[in-house]
Amino acid sequence: MGKFIRWLGRTFGSKKKRCPEEQRCLELVRLMLDEESTPEDNAYVLNHIDKCYQCYDNYDIEKAIREAVKKKNRKAKIPHEVVNEIRNKINLA
Ligand SMILES: [Zn+2]
Repeated sequence: MGKFIRWLGRTFGSKKKRCPEEQRCLELVRLMLDEESTPEDNAYVLNHIDKCYQCYDNYDIEKAIREAVKKKNRKAKIPHEVVNEIRNKINLA
């Protein structure tokens, strides 16, 4: 069901409505992807992105960026500034 809601959100452009949790969620997403989060953080993020297409998008982007960089440089830690820079380049920040 979450996927369908996200699709609806994208299709009908409700992107203008910012998620009030976005900033917090994004931080937790980053912690989770860097394996520095607690199980509670993970539960919060997974539960939230299932309902919130906007944060799911953020999660998707963060994950894709990490995977792309990891392919080049195994075990690399990606500084948040680099992630932000990439996001800016693809106009998603
Ligand atoms: Zn959200």
